[in-house]
Amino acid sequence: MEYAITTDNLSKNYGTFQALKGIDLRIPKGSFYGLLGPNGAGKTTTIGILTGLVNITSGSASILGYDVVKQYKKSRSLVGVSPQELNFDPFFPLDELLMLQAGYYGIKRKDARDRAMELLKQFGLESKINVKMRQLSGGMKRRVQIAKALVHDPPIIILDEPTAGVDIELRHMMWDYLTKINKEGKTILLTTHYIEEAEKLCDTVAIIDQGEIVIEGNPPDLIRKMGKNMICVRVNEWDTKKTLDNWDYTVVNNQLHIQTKTPDMDMPVLLNQLSKLQVQVLEVVVKKSSLEEVFIKLTGKSINV
Ligand code: ATP
Repeated sequence: MEYAITTDNLSKNYGTFQALKGIDLRIPKGSFYGLLGPNGAGKTTTIGILTGLVNITSGSASILGYDVVKQYKKSRSLVGVSPQELNFDPFFPLDELLMLQAGYYGIKRKDARDRAMELLKQFGLESKINVKMRQLSGGMKRRVQIAKALVHDPPIIILDEPTAGVDIELRHMMWDYLTKINKEGKTILLTTHYIEEAEKLCDTVAIIDQGEIVIEGNPPDLIRKMGKNMICVRVNEWDTKKTLDNWDYTVVNNQLHIQTKTPDMDMPVLLNQLSKLQVQVLEVVVKKSSLEEVFIKLTGKSINV
């Protein structure tokens, strides 16, 4: 397997504080990978190391096989990064800002202009081409920030909280765009506080807490392994002498709560059994657990705290 990003026993100390405690990442080429963690977990530190902004204390990291320290120039050229903090010259017009960024990567001015225009159009900012950064709304600035990460057409995109402070409509637009470029072959590493975002976009998610990866996997698998799904069946009347064999369930007010890891598969079997017991079913609801529950179970805290 070819990897876009790897880290080996990657550690970072700030003074005596251990921000990263030996992280091993293997992010395959073409993956849409999510790093999920509460505030202070070490996400931005990891991204900082991958993009040469933070020094490594021990261990190593590489981008498409190029060491981020020893082969910094090459590894950095393969990555487009959108940092969490918006960082712009407020007096720069949008097109100039993108062309300048492309220039850092040696892209010719004509090509840079074409690419800048294409991205501004893609992000619905065509009408703002000559507008200065400080005249944009927060959501527009965030779009420019992501366009900046893409302007030199890198194979790997790292996005630190790309939809922070962005309204729902724009968030969906960005999700569609990121999904599209991922399908076209870009590897994307994303950090997010929106679990829904990770669940929707990422093929693999790593949950990081206090500088350690607690678990990694694809969201449906993690939910299946760690979460608790439930089928809730409201019945006309439940005779307490009746029993549902082979199910883990409780009954409250003629409502059966059946725990199962595979509700979709189990539903017909369960309904068949209830029918044989001559129970009249009034309503069936499946409550699926989410990545949020997996996250809370593993870290003992909510992601937004
Ligand atoms: P958030 O979701 O809040 O952005 P994060 O997961 O990105 O959090 P980091 O910014 O990587 O977390 O921080 C990890 C830990 O390292 C935190 O406890 C933070 O206070 C600490 N830290 C980060 N940068 C520095 C620094 N320059 N000096 C000292 N400590 C730092």
